[in-house]
Amino acid sequence: MMDKIFGLWMALTLISCQSETDQNIGHTVITNWPGNKRSAISITYDDGTINNFTVARPIMNKLGLPGTFYIVTGKVEGSAKGKFIGRSKEEIIQETASVKTNADNFFERASLIGYTGLRDGIVFNVTAGSLFEEGKTKEAYAVIDSAYNLVRNSELKEVDNVIFDNNPEDTTTWEQYREYTVEGHEIASHSITHSRLAALDEVNLLYELKQSQSDIRKFLGEKYTFSIECPFGTENPRVMEYAMKVYPALRNRMPEPYLDELNRANERHPGDSEKEYVQWQRGPHTDTSMELMKSWVDTGIANDNIWLVLVFHGVEGIGWEPKTGAELQEYFSYIKDRKDSLWVATFADVTKYLREKKSTEVTSTVTGNTIVIDISSKLDPEVYDVPITLKTYVPQTWSSVVASNSMEGGQIQLRVQNDSLGTYVINSVQPNQEQILLTEQ
Ligand SMILES: [Zn+2]
Repeated sequence: MMDKIFGLWMALTLISCQSETDQNIGHTVITNWPGNKRSAISITYDDGTINNFTVARPIMNKLGLPGTFYIVTGKVEGSAKGKFIGRSKEEIIQETASVKTNADNFFERASLIGYTGLRDGIVFNVTAGSLFEEGKTKEAYAVIDSAYNLVRNSELKEVDNVIFDNNPEDTTTWEQYREYTVEGHEIASHSITHSRLAALDEVNLLYELKQSQSDIRKFLGEKYTFSIECPFGTENPRVMEYAMKVYPALRNRMPEPYLDELNRANERHPGDSEKEYVQWQRGPHTDTSMELMKSWVDTGIANDNIWLVLVFHGVEGIGWEPKTGAELQEYFSYIKDRKDSLWVATFADVTKYLREKKSTEVTSTVTGNTIVIDISSKLDPEVYDVPITLKTYVPQTWSSVVASNSMEGGQIQLRVQNDSLGTYVINSVQPNQEQILLTEQ
């Protein structure tokens, strides 16, 4: 009796498994990451300091890893320099003698201070801007008042190329930057002068955002105008609003509701997020241990929705919180060794993949021996050109599968794989490729 019941149960289980598998045939999804990998990593550098290019970049090139370098464009020969746009400098300075800094004149004065010729004038912009962002507006106004008190009573120097946080060693040319893009790296904006954008008035803030982008467009091409990191990791809402109108992607903040963003200071565990994707920014400092840095990579692999965005600054003694070349060599080798599970890509490319996944519709029909997959994307194919990966379930009996690209007529042999839901293939296609045919070969 027991045998009979067991036999019946087995038969029913087999039938239900079989039908579940059949239902899946043709079912196609865009995988979370290209190649059905577990996690994505973007390796980013701020400030464009020289050793980012002469020390870190060659290490990445040898390992075949692309990076994103946020550069201060006003430093680069041939591009527009920082300047104050507005009323006459003398008029504004004169006013400061009789009118205290307040909500009405703060932005104008903070925009001008770096260009008054006051020694360390830029420091006052940065200090006041930092206080302002912390909500300490009275203290910010007091800093500006003390700065203009000095302006009115000091000998002012000639204003030439104002760069906040300058390093005289930085001599990279646009021609070199162009070569780096050819190597596969992303060169992107970190504003013109690296000022505290939150303390600038509208016209000067827009100049920092737009002129920096124009120069990158002129010297490197449209592709590199996609992302920006507004200096000092600002999340000031006013700056974010302006920057989002000029740049499709900000490393500071992204508008996507499906993307959880844990910035460098956020201690929440990315695995606890309920959102579809998590952008997890970690900034290795000089004293950050190798063990901790490696654990970030492991955490990414242990989940399937984490985009680890590494934020480096200085390298080998030059720049803020520098790491050594030896550390980068060890760390990047650790990442490279896990490339089967990790997609290492520029900040722009990962952003594009996420948006493509969310804005592309994939439907499929099974007709006889062929699975027809229709793809429709709402995004501009000129910009959103990162291939998407499709995972399609095929009949268990298919031992060899060929994908036909209907646009170009090319055929690709796909590897047949299995998981708990059945037999499937993985296929990398352009998001604007309208139709794919899968056939058993
Ligand atoms: Zn910076």
